[in-house]
Amino acid sequence: MKSSFFFITILFSLNFIFGQEYYFNFETDIKNIDTVALNAYADDIKIIVIDAGHGGTINGASKKKVKEKNLTLKYALALKKLINEKKPKVKVIMTRSTDVNVELEDRPKVANENKADLFISIHVNSTLNKTATGTETFYYTGTHATISKGIAQKIQEQYAKNTALESRGVKVANYQVLREANVPAVLTEIGFLSNKKDLKYITSEKGQEKIVLSIYNGIFGETDEKKDDKKDEKKDEKKDEKKDEKKDEEPVKGYIVQLGVYANKPDTTKGKWTYTKDIKMVKETGLYILYVEGFKDKAEAEKERDRLKEKAAKLDDNFNDIFVKEKK
Ligand SMILES: [Zn+2]
Repeated sequence: MKSSFFFITILFSLNFIFGQEYYFNFETDIKNIDTVALNAYADDIKIIVIDAGHGGTINGASKKKVKEKNLTLKYALALKKLINEKKPKVKVIMTRSTDVNVELEDRPKVANENKADLFISIHVNSTLNKTATGTETFYYTGTHATISKGIAQKIQEQYAKNTALESRGVKVANYQVLREANVPAVLTEIGFLSNKKDLKYITSEKGQEKIVLSIYNGIFGETDEKKDDKKDEKKDEKKDEKKDEKKDEEPVKGYIVQLGVYANKPDTTKGKWTYTKDIKMVKETGLYILYVEGFKDKAEAEKERDRLKEKAAKLDDNFNDIFVKEKK
C-alpha cells in the first residue's frame, strides 16, 4: 500500500502532462476466477462491442506520424474480422468504424444498449519514460468484476505466450468506459508508442497479427492445438472427478441459470436469494458458484434469469454475472 501513493501521484502527473483522463490503478487481489466458469461464459458470448480508443479530433498518444487513434482503429477492425471469420454467429458491434469523434460516455452506452456480453476497448500506451514497455489489461471493480478480470487475465496470458512484448499484467482502473459499462468490460493497452521496440512491433504486420490473435484467444479461451489438447485432457479429468463425486446422483440434464461466482459464500437465506428455491452451490478453486438447475429448455431458463434480475433490481441489488447455460 505504501507505494500506491507514489504510483498514483506519478500516474496523475503523467496524465496531467498529456492531458489524458485521470485514473488510478493498482494490482488486484481478487482471487483468480476458475477456468470452468470462464470457459462457460466464453461459450455463451453472442454480442461483443469493440471500442477503438480515441478518434476524429482526439489523437490519443502520438509518436512522429503514428497516432494512437489510427492504430486502435486498425486493431479493432482486425479483431472484428477475426471474430467474424472464426465465430460467425457472434455479433460484433463497433463504437466507431472510421476516424470520427465518439464521446467517452457514448462508448459503454453502445454495450449497455445492445446488452453486449463483452465490451473491449483497445488503446496504445505512452509515457515520458522511454523504457516503459509491454502490454497490460484493465478492468473495473464493479458488478462484472469477476468475469472481466478473468478475461483480462486470459488476454494477458495470451500476450505473454504469443507476442514479443512483455506482460505488465492485469490491473484495476477507474476509467469511465469501464466504470459505466453495465456488462463485463476490459480495456487493453497493446504496447507503448513511447518505446522504440514496442512501436516497431505494434506497427508491424506480424506484431498486429499476434496481438489480435491473443485478444481473440483471451476472449474465447482458444489457444493453439497443443494447448487445446491439454485443455481437453484436463476437461476429461475434471469430468471423471465429477463422475466419481456424483456416482449416486442422477445428473440433471437441460439448462441451468448460473447466479454468480463469489469469493465468499453468500447467505442465501436473505434478500434476493429468497426469490428462488433449490439453489445449488459448487466450490471450485476457492470460489463458490451458485446456480439453479432443472430447466428443460433454454427459453424457460432465460425466463427465470429475467425474473430473478427483476426481483433483485427491486431490492436495489443484482445477481453477479447471471447467465443461462446448457448442462451437458
Ligand atoms: Zn488511449
